[in-house]
Amino acid sequence: MNNLFQILSYLTIFFVLSLSASTASAGLKVETTTQDLAAITKAIGGEHVDVHSLTLGTRDPHFAVARPSMIRRVYRADLLVVIGADMEIGWLPPLLQSARNHRIQPGNPGYLDLSRVVPLLGKTKGPIDRSMGDVHTKGNPHYWLDPANGIYIANAIAKRLVQLDPGHATAYQANLKTFKQVLNRKLSKWKKDLEHLKGKPVITYHKSLIYLANAFGFQIVDEVEPKPGIAPSAASLNNLMTRIKNENIKLLLIEPYYERRSAEYLKQQTGIQVIVIPQSVGAQTTIKTYVELFDAIVNILSSTGKN
Ligand SMILES: [Zn+2]
Repeated sequence: MNNLFQILSYLTIFFVLSLSASTASAGLKVETTTQDLAAITKAIGGEHVDVHSLTLGTRDPHFAVARPSMIRRVYRADLLVVIGADMEIGWLPPLLQSARNHRIQPGNPGYLDLSRVVPLLGKTKGPIDRSMGDVHTKGNPHYWLDPANGIYIANAIAKRLVQLDPGHATAYQANLKTFKQVLNRKLSKWKKDLEHLKGKPVITYHKSLIYLANAFGFQIVDEVEPKPGIAPSAASLNNLMTRIKNENIKLLLIEPYYERRSAEYLKQQTGIQVIVIPQSVGAQTTIKTYVELFDAIVNILSSTGKN
């Protein structure tokens, strides 16, 4: 009786192990550095990919910490999709080194740097030094915030999935086509909804919304951060206050993860409207896809800056 019980429990363990092995091997294992890239990869890869983001949309993507769980994930990944342009410079290189997975090292097919396929704004000409701020020295990496760049991103991801997994090429190409159709249809609606912002002067906290401004035609005239990654000082806030009053600037946009005190101070002093912009998939629990991201942003902005 005891033996039979033992055999049964071994059999159970065997089945559980083989089940988990088969789920684990279902599809390409893709790690992305942000939830936006994970959402687009999921839209293209569908059931043939197992996608996970290394960071959360609630956090500042410039700063992450390479945790042991992230190292294990990168070690197992078939494909690593990154924003690039130094967005992950503070945490990805040590992670890549610790993970010891040659498939996803830069230069190999398992490494996809999307900053290479998107036309970047804010590229500086000439020598680069720290006086320009802590981040953005290779061009502005916040490019996912223009829906038109979502097309470049999706094209590149589809191409790479086809290369790594040619057996599912038809599915990837069909999903890409659907993704582009939906995005293009939505884009004309979003543009209509935000028409009132065209040409309006806007202040942002960090130099992160230039692609959004580009897409919808508003003008970012200044930032609360005097340079990207550099916190405002009392003097820089006072200069900004004068500018807001003189130029009658009505709107200040800020991501949820930045300190709110400086923006609130400017609001108190000048009456400028402060709007928190969910900048990424996952910034709010209801934002699960790339389309839902712009639905949320457009919804927030559609009722602001009208007077
Ligand atoms: Zn930035």
